[in-house]
Amino acid sequence: MVLFKKSEDLSKWIETQRRLTPSEQFFSMGFVPTMGALHQGHISLIEASKAENDLTVCSIFVNPTQFNDTKDFEKYPATIETDIEKLEAAGCDVLFLPAVSEIYPQGTQLLKHYNLGFLETVLDGKFRPGHFQGVCQVVERLLQIVKPTQLYLGQKDYQQCMVISKLIDLMGWGNKMKINICPTLREADGLAMSSRNMRLNKDDRIKAVAIYQCLNHLKENIKPGNLQYLKEKAFKKLEQNGFKPDYINIADAYSLEEIVNWDGHQKPVALIAAFLNEVRLIDNMLLG
Ligand code: AMP
Repeated sequence: MVLFKKSEDLSKWIETQRRLTPSEQFFSMGFVPTMGALHQGHISLIEASKAENDLTVCSIFVNPTQFNDTKDFEKYPATIETDIEKLEAAGCDVLFLPAVSEIYPQGTQLLKHYNLGFLETVLDGKFRPGHFQGVCQVVERLLQIVKPTQLYLGQKDYQQCMVISKLIDLMGWGNKMKINICPTLREADGLAMSSRNMRLNKDDRIKAVAIYQCLNHLKENIKPGNLQYLKEKAFKKLEQNGFKPDYINIADAYSLEEIVNWDGHQKPVALIAAFLNEVRLIDNMLLG
């Protein structure tokens, strides 16, 4: 695996690889942006990219502009040595490991604003003000440096996948890059793998599975009609397990508009964000 810290070096190296490919116009490159503290969920994206591309590039960058909570940013786990070992074992070709000044050479103030519309007003958009602006700022910059033909994202961050799809439209890249949304990898008990799980203490790690149990309960019990009671039950179950939920919502899987009365045909997705002590966990499940 080749490691780059400077964006210019990486862009040049990729351009050389592209030119060296016998059929240059068919050169394919998969890109997996991450914030590190890698787990098998991240590695599954690397594997998906490797199976479909000439070259696989992974980035590790904890983006300061997407953290609305400074404590969360400061406590974000960093395990760079084991990350590198995991990427090498997975056969990743390139790791991009930039400093903040590489991504934001003009600083992190006065960055571009993206018109994300309704998407930014609900769920994590509502509970983490500015978060998706930060996501767009870093993803656009990374895409301009790497210029991949395919982007690999995890369904674990359902709303983020929709935001990035919107960003790609705003960038006018809809025809030149494909977005692949890969399934959420889970621990044996069902907890969605997440870098933040490392921050859970032993008791909270056991309790954390309640999110997955709630999602399953919603999936098994959803019926046409009003969904309020079902959501309230899930909310109570999380509270009984020591969570402070930000939201438990059932929304249209394509628009993220809340479904109050389900007609039995609309495609629903259940989305949960909840704190266990200081650790904020999110998860989602397609229903119906
Ligand atoms: P992060 O490092 O949390 O920013 O995640 C980097 C990428 O990995 C994002 O596209 C995530 O959606 C994806 N990802 C995170 N957790 C999982 C998981 N458990 N299964 C599959 N993909 C994941």
